[in-house]
Amino acid sequence: MTSQVDPTRELPNSHRRHTDGDGDHPLHCVWEITLACDLGCGHCGSRAGVARPDELSTKEALEVVDQLAELGLQEITLIGGEAYLRDDWDEIAAAIVDRGMLCTMTTGARNLDAKRVAKAAEAGIKAISISIDGLERTHDVLRGARGAWKSAVAAAERIKDTPILLGTNTQINRLTMPELPALADLLVEIGSRAWQIQLTVPMGRAADRPQLLLQPYDLLELYPLLVWIKQTRLEPAGIHLQPGNNIGYFGPYEHLLRYGGDKGAVWDGCQAGTRVLGLEADGKIKGCPSLPSTKFTGGNIRDLSIAEVVAGARELTAIGERDRDDLWGFCGDCYYGDHCLGGCTWTADVIMGRPGNNPYCIHRALRFDHEGKRERIVKVEDAKGDPFDTGRFEIVVENHPEARPEVIDAILGIPAEDVTTMTTKSESAWDLDHLRKALQKG
Ligand code: SF4
Ligand code: SF4
Repeated sequence: MTSQVDPTRELPNSHRRHTDGDGDHPLHCVWEITLACDLGCGHCGSRAGVARPDELSTKEALEVVDQLAELGLQEITLIGGEAYLRDDWDEIAAAIVDRGMLCTMTTGARNLDAKRVAKAAEAGIKAISISIDGLERTHDVLRGARGAWKSAVAAAERIKDTPILLGTNTQINRLTMPELPALADLLVEIGSRAWQIQLTVPMGRAADRPQLLLQPYDLLELYPLLVWIKQTRLEPAGIHLQPGNNIGYFGPYEHLLRYGGDKGAVWDGCQAGTRVLGLEADGKIKGCPSLPSTKFTGGNIRDLSIAEVVAGARELTAIGERDRDDLWGFCGDCYYGDHCLGGCTWTADVIMGRPGNNPYCIHRALRFDHEGKRERIVKVEDAKGDPFDTGRFEIVVENHPEARPEVIDAILGIPAEDVTTMTTKSESAWDLDHLRKALQKG
C-alpha cells in the first residue's frame, strides 16, 4: 500500500495496535480521490491512468470528510492515481484539516510544481511522501516516463522549503533492490525525514510482470541489507525507516527494522478494517486501499455510511476476526501464527488467492533455508487487466541450487561491493535493455 509518512511520531500507517481512548474504529484512511494519473508505472496495482467514470463529486467528497471525522479517523492520506489531478484536491485537503484530522498525501510528483506545493501548504497538508523507485534510469523506466525521477527530486526540494514534512516511499523489487543503498544516500541529499518501503506484489500491472517480483528466498539477501542501510545510512542522518506491512515477519530482523526498533514491538497482525480504511474514487469502501476490489469491497459511500460498512460488512470485519484456524499451508503450522495471522492480507491474497498463507516472510524463508530448500512463486494464471486485479501463483519448493555463502557477497547477482558503493550519480544498477525486458509483460 502506498501511504503517508509523518516522520515526527509513531504512525498509524505502521498499523501498530494502539488505542486512542475513543472506542474501536479505524484511525487511518487512505483515500484514492481519483484514478487519473500522469505516470504509467509498470508496477501499479490500480492500473491508474484514466479517471474512473463515476468518481465522487466535490459535494460527495466533502460529505465523506464529514463521515470520516464523525467516525473518529485521525489521519487521511490522499492518493491516486495522482491526487493533485482532481481540481478540488486542495479543497478536500483543507476540509480534512478543518475537521481536525491530519491530512497527508502520497504522490509520484511528476507535476507537483511550485503552485501545487503552495496549495498543499495553504490547505494545511502535514506531510507529503514522494515515490522514488530507484536511481534515475530505473525509476523512469519503472514509472513509464522519462524525466519522472528528476521531477520527483525537484518536487522534494520544493517541499523541503515549506512547513510540509517531506517523506519518501519506495517499492522493492528486482530492479530497485540493488539500488537501495544509493537511494538511501539520495534521501539524505534531498532531506527526506522518513522512508516507507514495501515489497512489490503481483497486483494490477505488477501481476503482468512476474519477472519484476522478488522470490521469497531473495528476502535472505534483502533483510540484512535493509538493516545495514538503516544502521549506516538512515540513522546517522535522522531518517526514520518505515517498513510497510509486507516487510515481515519475526526472525532476527523484526526488532531491528520495525517500529524504530522499540523493545517488545513486533508485528501484530493486519489491521485492515479495524484500524485502517481504504476508499476508492468512485466511493468503494475497503478495509485497506491495497486489497483487491472485487473481493474486499464492503459497500459504497453512495449506498451506505462508512460507519455502517465498517461495523457490518463481512468483507471488512472478517479480516479483524481472523484467527489461527484461518491460516493454511506453511503459515498454518507456524510458531508465530497466533500473533502474525499470516502477515499482510493483501500480499497473501494476491499471491496465493486467499489470505492466511504468505510466502513473503523472512521467518519462513529462513526455515526453508535451514533445510537447504527454498520457495519460488510461479505465475499460473494471468490477471484480467482491471484495477486492483490479480493473477494466480503457485509455490514451488526446491533444493537450493548451491550452498549460500556465510557472508552475503552479492545482491541479486550483483557483487555486494558494487551495491554498497553505488552512488546517487549512478543512473542505474542495470542497463536499459535489462530494464526494458523486466518491464515486458510476461
Ligand atoms: S510463516 Fe506465516 S504466520 Fe509465520 S511468521 Fe511468516 S507469515 Fe507469519
Ligand atoms: S492488507 Fe493489512 S497488513 Fe496489508 S497493507 Fe493492508 S492493512 Fe496493512
